[in-house]
Amino acid sequence: VATEKLQHSVLAAHFAARLLAWHDQHGRHDLPWQQQISAYRVWVSEIMLQQTQVSTVIPYFQRFMARFPDVATLAGAPEDDVLHLWTGLGYYARARNLQAAARIVVQQHRGELPADVETLCTLPGIGRSTAGAICSIAHGQRSPILDGNVKRVLARCFAVAGAANASSTLRELWTLAEALTPAERSATYTQAIMDLGATVCTRSRPACTLCPMHIDCLALRSGNPTAFPARKARRSVPERRCQMLVIRNRAGEFLLEKRPSPGIWGGLWSFPEAAEDEDAATACDRISGSAPQRIGRGPTFRHTFSHFHLDITPVHLEVEAPATHVMEDQRLIWYKPGGKNLGLSAPVKRLIDRLGQTNDELLKDERT
Ligand code: SF4
Repeated sequence: VATEKLQHSVLAAHFAARLLAWHDQHGRHDLPWQQQISAYRVWVSEIMLQQTQVSTVIPYFQRFMARFPDVATLAGAPEDDVLHLWTGLGYYARARNLQAAARIVVQQHRGELPADVETLCTLPGIGRSTAGAICSIAHGQRSPILDGNVKRVLARCFAVAGAANASSTLRELWTLAEALTPAERSATYTQAIMDLGATVCTRSRPACTLCPMHIDCLALRSGNPTAFPARKARRSVPERRCQMLVIRNRAGEFLLEKRPSPGIWGGLWSFPEAAEDEDAATACDRISGSAPQRIGRGPTFRHTFSHFHLDITPVHLEVEAPATHVMEDQRLIWYKPGGKNLGLSAPVKRLIDRLGQTNDELLKDERT
């Protein structure tokens, strides 16, 4: 289908030229990863930009580059330092994979990121599109990409029916991406098509009048551009509940537990959890080795993952000085806010930030 569309399409013949001309005039040229371009910087930015908007990524990218300016520094850093700089960005497997891949690059590729799509795809967390972006933007190779923005632009311009992640749709979109990517100015083309998707052909409100493709875009001609690509059937998202045990000692330190990896928040530090119906004081004793002197409950709040909602009730517990076995356990630490760099899950960071101001109010005397 894609080949037929390409043969008969006026748009296909002019696609790259129109896109490049548009980008020269209207594209973004001052994003941090567009400066001092290197394979490493493109790689980190591409991983951060997965599922995440440019404006959110910019400060994370800048902090990450200041701390880990090259592959070797990233490979040699403690995992906690990497996760600390990822705190709040979500999808933490991305950070763990980034560091795992950096270590492989140091051990097996003499510290140089491979410059071909096939070898890049053997590294953790790098798929065909990310590899394509690295080869194209950093090395100027004619190397197509197909991230979420590009899928949307191509599905609309060429009226590709079907959900964007269905395998038949993906095959068609990759064929289009392959055919349309030019040999000349491939790096600029790659940035341009991502830019068009991010700033003009947006998911719910495409600005078609500003788009260089609007004369021939098949989705626009159909009268309903947002019908492409087809949406996945909405599934209901399950809800779960838990208690987060905010255990504080007399030194003002909080007990944190390292989450198992892989898993939700894998490798991050979090408050220990108790089941919804578990007695919080008993759980505190079991985990910290100390019975709480005071207990208070905070308001329940919701944290939404891609596949479920988690309703979290923080339970604030104050204990005497920590028991020795806790201090020796690598999985549990007493953490002083503002102290050692740790990767914290977003709800934990939020709770700790709030605790700085309101701990005494939260710790209402329920038990003495
Ligand atoms: S004309 Fe509209 S729907 Fe078509 S590519 Fe441009 S912005 Fe997207």
